[in-house]
Amino acid sequence: MTTDESPTENKGQPGFVPAALSGLCPRCGAKTLFDGGAQLADECAACGLDFLKLERGGRFVGVVTMLLAVVLIMAALGMDEWLRPPLWASLLFWGPVTVGSVIGALRLYKAMWVYRGYEERQP
Ligand SMILES: [Zn+2]
Repeated sequence: MTTDESPTENKGQPGFVPAALSGLCPRCGAKTLFDGGAQLADECAACGLDFLKLERGGRFVGVVTMLLAVVLIMAALGMDEWLRPPLWASLLFWGPVTVGSVIGALRLYKAMWVYRGYEERQP
């Protein structure tokens, strides 16, 4: 985080990306947004905020995952072409990278919709 100490923006909300990655509830800041992995929880266990209702973009999750997979495969092919690593090295590298980026992207994506939905409901 850099400079979000501005007086106009002290609603006590954490930065979006760190909040999304650690799955913080947009209302109370508890780590309740995800039910483990990239599975969105139904509601906040701490304050009862209904995440599912806020997450209206959920049906596009499949598209996002597919796009990400395509990007990763292209990157993998490009790197293969360029470095020609041994197969075990490729697997060792791309296995965790793929899993990590898919989960990370899904968390960011779902959290983005929940946060947007939440902010739109503010007076
Ligand atoms: Zn909450």
